[in-house]
Amino acid sequence: MEIITKAPRGTSDKLPSDINKWQTIESAAAAVAQAYGCKEIRTPIFEHTELFQRGVGSTTDVVQKEMYTFNDKKGRSITLKPEGTAGAVRAAIENGLLNEALPLKLYYFTRCFRYEAPQSGRMREFNQFGVEIFGADSPVSDAEVICMVNDIFVFLGLEGIRLEINSIGCPKCRAEYQNALREYYGQFRDKLCDTCKDRLEKNPMRLLDCKSEICHSFAEKAPVILDYLCSDCSDHFEGVKTALKALNINYTINPRIVRGLDYYTNTVFEFISDNCGTQGTVCGGGRYNGLVEEIGGRSMPGLGFAMGLERIIMVMDAQNAKYKPAKQCDLFIAGTDSDATRYAAILAHKLREYGFWAECDIVGRSLKAQMKYADKIGANFSMVIGGDEMNSQKAELKNMKTGEKITVSIGENFAANINSILAFSE
Ligand code: ATP
Ligand code: MG
Repeated sequence: MEIITKAPRGTSDKLPSDINKWQTIESAAAAVAQAYGCKEIRTPIFEHTELFQRGVGSTTDVVQKEMYTFNDKKGRSITLKPEGTAGAVRAAIENGLLNEALPLKLYYFTRCFRYEAPQSGRMREFNQFGVEIFGADSPVSDAEVICMVNDIFVFLGLEGIRLEINSIGCPKCRAEYQNALREYYGQFRDKLCDTCKDRLEKNPMRLLDCKSEICHSFAEKAPVILDYLCSDCSDHFEGVKTALKALNINYTINPRIVRGLDYYTNTVFEFISDNCGTQGTVCGGGRYNGLVEEIGGRSMPGLGFAMGLERIIMVMDAQNAKYKPAKQCDLFIAGTDSDATRYAAILAHKLREYGFWAECDIVGRSLKAQMKYADKIGANFSMVIGGDEMNSQKAELKNMKTGEKITVSIGENFAANINSILAFSE
């Protein structure tokens, strides 16, 4: 029995008592993205494995080590989404969204699945909020995407989150840089982890992002990409910096950021907090000008970001940031017997049409037990219906916090009446 009453390692339940945290973050992120003109997209939770091999990159940690991949009953290889960008790009191509007005601006919430060693802030199933923008090439668009992330943090009242940026150039300037990396890491070839020995020829930039202790230590003295940028890439990076300054966004340049996914070009960035344990990166993103073509669309610039919502909650909790309060029951209508309870159900139904959270007894409890329940769920108001109330069409509305009572009509205008009374009691 034990195995089915325990969630799989690296997953977590989001319980009703915490759901206002998720709703606070989700509504803030969506509101900010919409203010920038982004529209929501929802794509499947699994895709053909090839999409991620092509999109994320076959030499990345995500594809080599972390994907949840299985064959379906017809023997097709399927993978649970490890990230959101590849699916969004696939959907944009397949549904012709890139033939409509550009730039196309999308946002999404998605669960992601990665087979990682679970620890605080690192889960096997986690949630991301992401934005993808297609058809925008100017440095202002890079700055705007970064500004959007910043706005979300401001909206949520978060503090002390640092922005680090870098440029990893284009395939043209990267070729020379990769040679320099091969030469540098070549000296330590025997000491590299097995995955990196293999990556050294194919994709040496991945070595900079390797999490193994030994490879990580070599990264410190490795050549930096900024010394190898071609003039177009270097102009673009300057443009991004100028646009960020104009928007009053502080940043530091970290030439070691390469990001864990292969599709990035030019600008890459990370937002880092000291408030989410050892996993400091709460949001990562950048430009991916080659990705749409790689996945089978026409050549088209793109850029975006993804933030880890579990990590945002860790930061909010650590900083005692304010969540939207959980909603409470507006009115519990008790009944003294089964006739009265049926009447209470009709009244509750009328109230719900007005958008109130109204409850009545649905388990056949005594009046005393009903009132105990109303108290337990934190109902703001309560009312008792009995024979007298049904006859006189009047009942007492009790404010559960102050104990104050007023008599209200429970006839025709009941819901409208309650609506105006509760509106004033907020
Ligand atoms: P890390 O270096 O922490 O492994 P990453 O580069 O793999 O991060 P991305 O693929 O850029 O992360 O994902 C974007 C964001 O999603 C991260 O900044 C982080 O907030 C969150 N994230 C990534 N992996 C996990 C995970 N296993 N559990 C929880 N959140 C995660
Ligand atoms: Mg990772």
